[in-house]
Amino acid sequence: MSLLNENPMPAIFFGHGSPGNILEDNTATRMWQQLGKELPKPKGIICVSAHWYTSNTAITSMESPKTIHDFGGFPKAMYEMQYPAPGSLELASKLSVILAEENAQLDSTWGFDHGTWCVLAKVFPKADVPVVQLSINNTKDMAFHFRVGQKLAELRKQGYWVIGSGNIVHNLGVMDWNKRNMTFNWAQRFGDYIRDAVSTNTPENVINYLDFGAEAKMSVPHPDHFIPLLYVLGARLTDDDCRFETTYAEYGSLDMTSIIFN
Ligand code: ZN
Repeated sequence: MSLLNENPMPAIFFGHGSPGNILEDNTATRMWQQLGKELPKPKGIICVSAHWYTSNTAITSMESPKTIHDFGGFPKAMYEMQYPAPGSLELASKLSVILAEENAQLDSTWGFDHGTWCVLAKVFPKADVPVVQLSINNTKDMAFHFRVGQKLAELRKQGYWVIGSGNIVHNLGVMDWNKRNMTFNWAQRFGDYIRDAVSTNTPENVINYLDFGAEAKMSVPHPDHFIPLLYVLGARLTDDDCRFETTYAEYGSLDMTSIIFN
């Protein structure tokens, strides 16, 4: 019996922006809610979040991952929120086999950081889809992350969503808190460059994003939020359609672009 599904599940990059989105009803959060209703429900989700940035390749492996409140200065209500989706030991084990060459290790200490739960609480508010997080190995280069994403593609054919949660442009140092939905010109240009690379299926331009020059460094002063995109691009399948949503920025320098392959 083949485990392969004729209709692969989607791969999605979520621009997650501010954790405060969890309390809002805005263009991005309504789109996340809509995706949960419109896309086929998976038997589980593999999530690469910007906020699990480690010196190894780790996989959450626990029955009931804890909700991590890894943010500061937000309303008290946010620290009381829980996202009680189950983990999946089965999926964690599958991942550890697929990523044996990368020496991926099962982890029982992490849980769901806000890159994961602040988005998924909108997509699947009933928290009834198991979720496993895969960490970003911060000792590796961009090509490594893309190649790991390629290995994840087969899980889409087994009924799992592969998602990345970060931001194409993420510069907290220059954010303008008075401009909720506004994009700095340099952030727009870099965002357009990356969106164009995705549209034309030239992932090498994403892997080598620094070739764009000074505005790439301004847009990606630290690669943690950019890297989840490489996993999703790696998991892209030849027959996928590609769709962009919410291509604006928050506060000038948090690009909210989400990309859906299915
Ligand atoms: Zn973030």
